[in-house]
Amino acid sequence: MSDTPIPAKPSPSPGDATAPFWAACAEGRLRLRACTACGARFTPTRAACGCGCTRLEWVEASGRGTVFSYTVVHRAPDPAFRAELPYVIAIVALEDGGRLMSNVIGCAADAVRIGLPVRAVYETVGEGVGVPKFTPA
Ligand SMILES: [Zn+2]
Repeated sequence: MSDTPIPAKPSPSPGDATAPFWAACAEGRLRLRACTACGARFTPTRAACGCGCTRLEWVEASGRGTVFSYTVVHRAPDPAFRAELPYVIAIVALEDGGRLMSNVIGCAADAVRIGLPVRAVYETVGEGVGVPKFTPA
């Protein structure tokens, strides 16, 4: 055993385009970007829709969805994540449209499967910054 302190996990660095997303998560809400031309919904990291439209608006999402794909991590890429092994990284297909990559928590890693219904839970990681994670619904 080492006495080396466990480093902090990296946190989001909200910018103008993403701050409303992280702030909503800190309040226990999920917001997505929606294209005003075609209605597509996606995470706030994109500045334009696939249809070419750049007029995007914020919409509230339920936070419910299903596991679209996932992997189980058995070897931590960073010491900050070692205590959580094994953990699940999943792409969740949201019922309101769009997909979001995050962790599935609150169950054994081997209980996760494609199609598993999940709902968002939120972890506050800083002042006005929350991170969405998912747990079995
Ligand atoms: Zn569009």
